[in-house]
Amino acid sequence: MCVGADETYMRVALEVARSKGSDPSTSPLGCVIVLDGEVIAAERNQTQELPDATAHAEMMAIRRACETTGEMELRGATLYSTLQPCGMCTMASIWSKVGRVVYGAGREDVHPMYFEAKHVDTLAFIGDAYRDDIEIEGGCLAEECASLYYSPDADLSADEQANL
Ligand SMILES: [Zn+2]
Repeated sequence: MCVGADETYMRVALEVARSKGSDPSTSPLGCVIVLDGEVIAAERNQTQELPDATAHAEMMAIRRACETTGEMELRGATLYSTLQPCGMCTMASIWSKVGRVVYGAGREDVHPMYFEAKHVDTLAFIGDAYRDDIEIEGGCLAEECASLYYSPDADLSADEQANL
């Protein structure tokens, strides 16, 4: 399912996710963007630290990758994320023109708090995109990625549910 370069880069994303500890309440999400075999961005979710509601790992990585390349478009790049990107990050991927999105844990692998109550399905988003040159694949090291987050049936009080 997830071999070679994809596995290698997802492991980097996992390391980034764990860089500030792996307590699930701190939203350990990691994202790596790779272009021509080179990691051009590696970012963790920073919503609480900044604070910035849009500072998801993917958003931060897209910003960093554009800074690194000096380009607004990331054509040919692959974005790796430890968790299925939310609607915002999926749209940002479309706008930034990345060629491929690979994610680890999917929506069904983690607690519902990680996604919008009325989830905009990422796959449908890509399918309906005005671009036909972007691919999305899930399940890369899914089990290891899912272990970073609260499980689907975790009994959490409202306070324990991180505001992502
Ligand atoms: Zn997001």
